[in-house]
Amino acid sequence: MSHRVLVLAGDGIGPEVMNETIAVIEQVNAALGIDMTLDHALLGGAAIDATGVPYPDETAAKARQADAIILGAVGGPKWDGLDRSIRPEKGLLGIRSDLQLFGNLRPAILYPQLAQASSLKPDLVAGLDLLIVRELTGGIYFGQPRGFDSTEDGQRRGFNTYVYTESEIKRVAHLAFDLARKRDCRVCSVDKANVLEATMLWREVMNEVAKEYPDVELSHMYVDNAAMQLIRAPKQFDVMVTGNMFGDILSDAAAMLTGSIGMLPSASLDQAGRGMYEPCHGSAPDIAGQGIANPLATILSAAMMYRYSLNESAAADAIELAVGRVLDKGIRTGDIAAGDEPKVSTSEMGASVREALSQHFVK
Ligand code: NAD
Repeated sequence: MSHRVLVLAGDGIGPEVMNETIAVIEQVNAALGIDMTLDHALLGGAAIDATGVPYPDETAAKARQADAIILGAVGGPKWDGLDRSIRPEKGLLGIRSDLQLFGNLRPAILYPQLAQASSLKPDLVAGLDLLIVRELTGGIYFGQPRGFDSTEDGQRRGFNTYVYTESEIKRVAHLAFDLARKRDCRVCSVDKANVLEATMLWREVMNEVAKEYPDVELSHMYVDNAAMQLIRAPKQFDVMVTGNMFGDILSDAAAMLTGSIGMLPSASLDQAGRGMYEPCHGSAPDIAGQGIANPLATILSAAMMYRYSLNESAAADAIELAVGRVLDKGIRTGDIAAGDEPKVSTSEMGASVREALSQHFVK
């Protein structure tokens, strides 16, 4: 079966890290006999420059046809002055909601080789392997009514609605439980069920769905405690599942446990397992064009793509092992280099990963 993958290189360092990632994808496909067609389209600032809009119809048509999408990053100062409705970030939100990408997977993995880069003590984080599953298309970020009005005594008032339906909770619950089955079979659901009705329902539905997964252990944690536990003892977690706003905050905190944003991949999935894969970082305009960006977050996003949307776990394993080998050898881009460690360029890092892959495939 041929996999259809759409590449959206985006802006800033996006095309730089994507070049290395495509070279890795092509090498893995050739070595494992994976049949894949790679198509390209514009998103974000690059799309605005070419067509006037951040998510052009042509990109939307290609995205709807694809089995998976791999994205670099979008945005940059060049487009900051534009009206909000046509800013690059609108392209990102547009494609996520167009494709109904409701499940956001944010792994926080700390390679033991990089434990020194974390702000926590190395023994607390070395070997960390946590997966946060964040509901991405519902909750307080989308709930209606929302807006501004004024009170009877003339004060300005802002309001939002925290709302979840049973079906929205169910589908993200199933996603988290299915993912836990591929890992350590433990799910921790994070809510504020002592205060918020919407999350009381969240907890109820989680318990109901758990009955279909007797092999997976479900626990519950209030979000304030979860924030504390992430900093105190993050290795206690396997899969954490939570709503949109709590997930937004907790996944950024978890990201920082790992030291560098240049190492973190992510996935956003729809009901059928099709997904968009992207690094957690942005377009890094401060280093764009210098050839020094770390391409590993995007290369690791490709590994997630093979695993979660294309069902090619051997390819995912090979890429992740190769990245581990490169780190073992002490090869570092500037963002993960400690002190006066020598630093490699984006293309040297990409070439090192491909060399490690060649050795892996020769064995
Ligand atoms: P950023 O992630 O782009 O950069 C933050 C810092 O991390 C910068 O110092 C940057 O140099 C560094 N950094 C990021 N990725 C790196 C990498 N791969 N290698 C080495 N260093 C790296 O965040 P920002 O500066 O807040 O945003 C810049 C632009 O990116 C903005 O226009 C923002 O809207 C956009 N953005 C896009 C996405 C996305 O496309 N998903 C996400 C976040 C921000």
